[in-house]
Amino acid sequence: MEDLRYLDDVSTLVLDKEKCIGCSLCTEVCPQAVFEMQGEKAHIVDFNACMECGACVNNCPSKAISVSPGVG
Ligand code: SF4
Ligand code: SF4
Repeated sequence: MEDLRYLDDVSTLVLDKEKCIGCSLCTEVCPQAVFEMQGEKAHIVDFNACMECGACVNNCPSKAISVSPGVG
């Protein structure tokens, strides 16, 4: 799955680092390895791999992530 690519720069994925509490769930549920933990915060390390599946949004306990499924 990690090799699948989509259109560049069209994902609606947004991560609000201020809200992130560092649980790392997004790194576990994302099928595209878009996130990586850096210290206590999640970071978007492969933005263009996002396929807007919504798994990260549904599992983030602090609502730090937003995406509009199927827009990009
Ligand atoms: S929407 Fe899906 S593919 Fe995109 S970052 Fe979240 S879990 Fe990963
Ligand atoms: S799931 Fe949400 S709170 Fe947890 S590390 Fe990811 S962005 Fe931060």
